[in-house]
Amino acid sequence: MKAITIVPGTPNSISVQDVPEPPASDGSVLVRAVELGICGTDFELISADYGWAPRGSKYLILGHESLGVVEDAPADSGFKKGDLAVGIVRHPDPVPCVACAVDEWDMCRNMKYTERGIKEISGFGAELWRSHPGFVVKLDPKLGGCGVLMEPTTILAKAWDHITRIGERALWKPKTLLVTGAGPVGLLAALIGAQRGLEVHVLDRVTEGPKPELVHDLGGHYHTGPLDKLGFCPDVMIECTGVASVIVEAINLLGTDGILCLAGVSSHGQEQTLDIGKINRTMVLENSVIFGTVNANRKHYQMAAEVLGKADQQWLSKMISRREPLANWRKAFERQPDDIKVVIDFSHR
Ligand SMILES: [Zn+2]
Repeated sequence: MKAITIVPGTPNSISVQDVPEPPASDGSVLVRAVELGICGTDFELISADYGWAPRGSKYLILGHESLGVVEDAPADSGFKKGDLAVGIVRHPDPVPCVACAVDEWDMCRNMKYTERGIKEISGFGAELWRSHPGFVVKLDPKLGGCGVLMEPTTILAKAWDHITRIGERALWKPKTLLVTGAGPVGLLAALIGAQRGLEVHVLDRVTEGPKPELVHDLGGHYHTGPLDKLGFCPDVMIECTGVASVIVEAINLLGTDGILCLAGVSSHGQEQTLDIGKINRTMVLENSVIFGTVNANRKHYQMAAEVLGKADQQWLSKMISRREPLANWRKAFERQPDDIKVVIDFSHR
């Protein structure tokens, strides 16, 4: 079968090659890939910033944003042929740590977890993949191709889960949300905010193209320029750019009881000068919180399925700005100005 592979540690080693079909030891649920979403993590893996091949293998099958159709599954697995399915990316560490022991592998303490298409387990960028039933999630068939947005949605479902837990440390009635960065992660953060009835504000650099329209379609306000021009302190901020200067502006915008959730992964070497005394003083006196979040556990996949089920399907389909057939895979990895979510279509070769 064909698979998109990289050799971890070797920059730009990405290729499509024939590889053996997944071994039965990968799990009893066999899934035929329909689509694969591409994200910033894949570009970092291609650049060899990180990435680990499975033990005994030279290459790693890339891809963690899956969508497939069950090809074969045991009768007692809860799956049947034809089910629309998405694979869970992170698997608990084998120790396991206290977090992984209770299925909270997104909070793994010892960092010995594994991740499909990233760390030591084959990804979903292959014509066929297998999984244990506990690491596949069934999707509502009405989602169709939009189901490929499931994995990125889980990241925001977790972010919102934790924002809510932090907010509910005391009486909490948030009204305003600011999202920085209108990429797929930011737009999904805004979608969940809108579903929760918050007044949604999204900030990005671009002034035209599909992003402002997608924000307006959510009933949200679209902004460009510096954050201090916003004129208010949002109750919740979700930072999705990873750009140091934007993060500093977001910290400066934190208001009373404000929560700043950091969801964008920064590159190294972005130094900024900060008045830690002022930041500490403000955070203490105003009960504000800054926290980071990554990945998702099984519970967040259920939350994400609800989010996608409630969302306007046309809005979701506009998030997928480009679909490239597997034969054109190289094009899928070339960034284009109006890209939001680019998807590789495994069903048309
Ligand atoms: Zn763990």
